[in-house]
Amino acid sequence: MKMQKLLVCGLVLAGLAWSVAYGQAGPEDEAVSFVASEADDEGADIGDGQESAADEADVPFIYFEGPDREVTGTLLPYATNGEAGVMVISPEEVFSDKGAPVYWDESWPYASYSQIHTGHATLYRKIVGNGYTVCVNAGHGTAGGASVRTLCHPDGSAKVTGGSTGAGAIYATAISYGTTMQDGTTEGVVNLQLAMILKEKLLHAGFHVLMIRESDDVQLDNIARTVIANQNADCHLSLHYDSTAYDKGFFVISVPDVYSYRHMEPVASHWQEHNALAESILAGVRGMGNRIYGSGNFELDLTQTSYATIPSVDVECGDTASDWSKASQEKIADGIVKGLISYFNIDPAWYYY
Ligand SMILES: [Zn+2]
Repeated sequence: MKMQKLLVCGLVLAGLAWSVAYGQAGPEDEAVSFVASEADDEGADIGDGQESAADEADVPFIYFEGPDREVTGTLLPYATNGEAGVMVISPEEVFSDKGAPVYWDESWPYASYSQIHTGHATLYRKIVGNGYTVCVNAGHGTAGGASVRTLCHPDGSAKVTGGSTGAGAIYATAISYGTTMQDGTTEGVVNLQLAMILKEKLLHAGFHVLMIRESDDVQLDNIARTVIANQNADCHLSLHYDSTAYDKGFFVISVPDVYSYRHMEPVASHWQEHNALAESILAGVRGMGNRIYGSGNFELDLTQTSYATIPSVDVECGDTASDWSKASQEKIADGIVKGLISYFNIDPAWYYY
C-alpha cells in the first residue's frame, strides 16, 4: 500500500509549534504549512526501517491547546528527540477519519420522548482540527417513521405554527417521508447527497462531523436525531428541500417570535443560539452567491428546535424544482461551511479551506 505522510516540523512545544505551523498561512493556502509528502516506501523523509517501526508502534497520544479549543494529535515515537519533533499523520487520519458509531443512550435528556432510535449515528473526528463538532442531519430517510407519533413539545403544549404538522397539534409524525423532486427523486436521497458533500468539506475545514445517516435508511426519528446531536455535537444542521415547485432558493428556519414558545424549555435557553446560527449560515450561503428565497429567514416551530440544547437550524436548500446536481450542492455546502466558521469565530489560522 502506498504510504503517504504529512510532516509537521517543530511540534514539541505545542502552542508555539502550532503558531509556527499555522500562523503565517492564509485560508486560501491548501493544507497551510503542512509539508505534504506523498512519499512511497522509499520516501526520502523517513527511512524504511523507521517508517515500519512507527507504523507498528503503540502511538503515544498527546494533546495541545490551540487558539480556541483543545485539539488532539499523534506524535510518533521516533519523532521525539526532546528538542524538536516531527508529527506524522496519514492523510486518512487528517482528512477522512473512519468514524465511530454513536449508539442511543436512554439516559440522555429528552431521550424518552423518541419513539424510533434503534439506529446509530457516526462520529468522524479530526486528529488535527478546530475542535468543534457539527452534526449533519440529512433530513428524512427513516422507513416507517411517518406512521409513528411523537410529542411536538416536551411539555406537551401545542405547536405554535404550521409546518408539516399543523398549528395546534400536540403530536407530530415522528419523522416524515419528505417531498419528491420534480424528476421523481425523493428528498431523502437529495438531502443525503448534500450531507455527504458537506461532511467532506467540514472535515477538510477542520471540524469533527457527526453524521446522522449515510444511507437511505436510519432508524432515528426527529427527536432521536436532536437528542444525539445535543449530546455529541456543538451544533446541529438538518438539511432539507422544500415541497414547493418554483425553484425558490435557499432559506433557513428560525425560532418563531411567539411568547409561549420562546419561554418553553429547552427553547427558552437556546433560541437565541439557534437564530444566531441561522443568520450565520444564511450569510455564508448568500456570500457564496447562492440564490436566497425572500429574506432567507422564516420562522417555524419545529421538533428539532423544540428539543435542542445546542445551536440547531433546519436549512432548506431549495425546493422540488431546484437543481440538486453535485455542483449546485457544492456551492451551498461551501456557504454552510463559511457560515459555521463565522459562527464559531474560528481563527483563520485554524482552517485550511
Ligand atoms: Zn424535508
